[in-house]
Amino acid sequence: MTKESAVLAKVLGGAGRIVGGTLRSAVTDVATTAAHLAELTTDRIARRDPDDAVLRVAVVILSNADGPLCQPDDVTPALDRAQQIFRSQAGIRVRPVSIRVVSGPAPEHALRPRANQKLLLDDLLGRTEWYRRFEPGESGVGSPVTVVVVEEIAGRTTGCSLGMTADWVVCQASLFDKNNPHTYDESVLAHELGHALNLPHHKDNKNLMFPSSSPPGQVRGTELQGWQKLVLGGNRHVIPGLRSRTEGKRPPAAAAGDPAKTAASE
Ligand SMILES: [Zn+2]
Repeated sequence: MTKESAVLAKVLGGAGRIVGGTLRSAVTDVATTAAHLAELTTDRIARRDPDDAVLRVAVVILSNADGPLCQPDDVTPALDRAQQIFRSQAGIRVRPVSIRVVSGPAPEHALRPRANQKLLLDDLLGRTEWYRRFEPGESGVGSPVTVVVVEEIAGRTTGCSLGMTADWVVCQASLFDKNNPHTYDESVLAHELGHALNLPHHKDNKNLMFPSSSPPGQVRGTELQGWQKLVLGGNRHVIPGLRSRTEGKRPPAAAAGDPAKTAASE
């Protein structure tokens, strides 16, 4: 096989994986049943409020030659922040399912990924396998999003997601360094989770999906529009809550102010 055909085969293989993953996403984004029922049962057993939908998040902290890039406790405030934003704005509980520190240095390309389209190209070429190997291995409704803490993302980017094509996002370790007010930013993890749940950027800097955030003075806001809440709630990673299921069964007359109709005009 020539070098060119080897690269082409890699790209086609990667594209097939992404198309397959995207189709699976599209199918499972509208499914609700088994995982939801399991979640509801768990909630009843634990006597938790079953009204909120649930987004499960796994965290993987990579190590370089000096050791782990940060500690689990460093990431907790950003997870709490995401929980507060998603719950208050969209009725979604963010539930951390695991925070794992991978000991032993990760390869350089995993520690220092490229950003945006270049990261997508790397994914197509199979160069993101290091991130996918730490995913919990679940797919379908309620599968977790994995946040991988890396050393540094290329350029000025501090977090990156490939949207619905990947179940992982990357966040730069400096975001979680409370000793550095010029890099510490709790908004980025929640922003990247938003991308992983199919949200695009929003032009309002008060919105969670505003593209840039510059701590300490100009950290992006935490607001979400009605249509954004609908996108989040309908995503395959989110296990619907009892409240949203009940709302979906309202008779047409009572659903005149249904957010689905409002969203279409925004
Ligand atoms: Zn973004």
